Amino acid sequence: MLIVWVLFFSWAYGEAAALPVLGETKATVEAQYGSAYVVQEDTLHFRGGEEWQEIISKKPSLAKAYGYASVMQGKKGTLWVEYNADERVKKETLLLEENLKIRHLGQYFPELQAALTGTDSLAAILESYPRAQLAVRIGKNAQAERWVRFFVAGDGKNHINMHTEVKGFEITDIPCEPGEVKAPTEGAWLKSDNYFLPQLYFSEPLVLRKKTELIVVHHAAMPLTTTREDIQDLHLTNGWAGIGYHKLVFADGNAAEGRPENVVGAHALGVNQRSLGIVLVGDFSKERPVLAQLQGAANLTRELMEKYHVTLENVKPHRAVTEGTDCPGAAFPWQEFVNLIASAGK
Ligand SMILES: [Zn+2]
Repeated sequence: MLIVWVLFFSWAYGEAAALPVLGETKATVEAQYGSAYVVQEDTLHFRGGEEWQEIISKKPSLAKAYGYASVMQGKKGTLWVEYNADERVKKETLLLEENLKIRHLGQYFPELQAALTGTDSLAAILESYPRAQLAVRIGKNAQAERWVRFFVAGDGKNHINMHTEVKGFEITDIPCEPGEVKAPTEGAWLKSDNYFLPQLYFSEPLVLRKKTELIVVHHAAMPLTTTREDIQDLHLTNGWAGIGYHKLVFADGNAAEGRPENVVGAHALGVNQRSLGIVLVGDFSKERPVLAQLQGAANLTRELMEKYHVTLENVKPHRAVTEGTDCPGAAFPWQEFVNLIASAGK
């Protein structure tokens, strides 16, 4: 029976390999509980094996499977799988034991992440009481669209973004006529940012910066292992629009984009309107950055100086432009950094 089912999906979804999610939980449940477990939703009464065909032939709406499964990396959750009478999976629901931030889901569900960020994925938000809902269309063909709907945790007072926690998700196929776009439920779903894509989310519109006279250098004052998203979380918690720095440089010397380069940052009180902010990830109040990181930051600074016509004198440590901070840290070798920038241009 399973083979028939797999064939059906291969046919229904020409790109079944790219959309492997719906149906895999069925296999997980069946591996644990045997095939064709049926549960009657109102009583949570399990009926197995031979009762299957009889029950669903009389009342197909009772065809559900239920399982408790370990998902990736020790995360546990409860799985519900609903079948149609032909054993085709209709809906899969996963409720997690612990909430997960939207941006962390991909670490535990890499295939889901791949589907969510596919080229024709479409994210939609419904601002409904008591809480807003997020759904992403992960596939479509002439007969159906496949949607993932997320159960948002908390009191629903905060706007949904990539840092929002969810309790789980459900994956559903919604039949549609050719050319028709169906929302995951009735109501006013609006196209929104897809928070599973790698770009950062900003909670309010950013303002274009009119001039760039300074490049201000910071340390994150956080551990070397800090990620861009950790800093983003912190800055959103501070009530800012999102990450305040324009560029980040990690311990290996690699750089990442923070806030877009052409907008006003939130990194150096008093000069944000006329400066770019670069942060070296780490805490250099007691230990200096390794040479690779210093060199990476120097090369990046040099590029930005040339792009924005900023002189070396106008590359400043944060402490030189804002009072009350020793950023980028007492152990940061400023003169050595300046020398590296100077030689990077030769
Ligand atoms: Zn600083």
